[in-house]
Amino acid sequence: MDLEIAGAFCFMPLLMVIAAQGWAWMICVFVCLPLFFIIYYYKIASKSRTRLFFGWSLVSFFFLLAIFELEVVPYLEILFIENFVLMCFVACMCLCVFFVKSNSQTTLPIAITSDRYESKSEIKKIRCEACACAQPSRTYHCELCGFCVHKRDHHSIWLDTCIGSKNQKYFMGALIALLLSCFYSSNLTLTTICHPTLLGGILLVPDDCSDVFGDIHISICFVSAVYTLMIAALGIFLLSQQFWLISHNTTFQEWKQGQMGLYSNGCFRNVWEFFCGYT
Ligand SMILES: [Zn+2]
Ligand SMILES: [Zn+2]
Repeated sequence: MDLEIAGAFCFMPLLMVIAAQGWAWMICVFVCLPLFFIIYYYKIASKSRTRLFFGWSLVSFFFLLAIFELEVVPYLEILFIENFVLMCFVACMCLCVFFVKSNSQTTLPIAITSDRYESKSEIKKIRCEACACAQPSRTYHCELCGFCVHKRDHHSIWLDTCIGSKNQKYFMGALIALLLSCFYSSNLTLTTICHPTLLGGILLVPDDCSDVFGDIHISICFVSAVYTLMIAALGIFLLSQQFWLISHNTTFQEWKQGQMGLYSNGCFRNVWEFFCGYT
């Protein structure tokens, strides 16, 4: 097994157990963790391929799923229908991630011949030295993956794959399913252990979480729910960024190169062509 993935398998559950020891421990772990990832990204992951983030995603997924099914469901009396709805969101997310991973590579011959929007005359006569091939318009080489990707948006460190024209829709689908899963599961957990109250007469929200660290079963459920909300915050940031770029028909790669809105046909048409057009 990859050393970085093995490290994630050891440290992620360990950190959750440490965080479950009390308020101060939890705050310390959840402040240090994002700082560690930011430093690790700028020192290592932005320069060479690392599987630590992908490993961390995998371990987090299985850990949170296990905590929900083995701790939250039996101890906090979650209804079958609530668990079923959550598992549907999780299944959608897994399916989307599978399609993101399996559609990450855009081989150049396919990109040149199947593109419905750019004729061959528009193909830039730029040669990618690494791939030893001509690069079609809006195609960029990923140093981490080692191949060219049509409409390359970015290299997702969390999925360890490039996001481009072939898998960006699935990537957005995965983010939406992730958000639904995170908000629903954390709400189910927190409203059960934190004395729920009714907000606006319709939405059940947690009210008082002051005594959650008295029992290890309850504290591990609480810490998992807070960690889930942190993942949701990252998901909201990524999804907002994606919608903003799509509304300008710009990829993250082009935005970094100062080409914002270079291919824009108006917000509505950009969004329509992204979701309903051919890629
Ligand atoms: Zn290339
Ligand atoms: Zn890549």
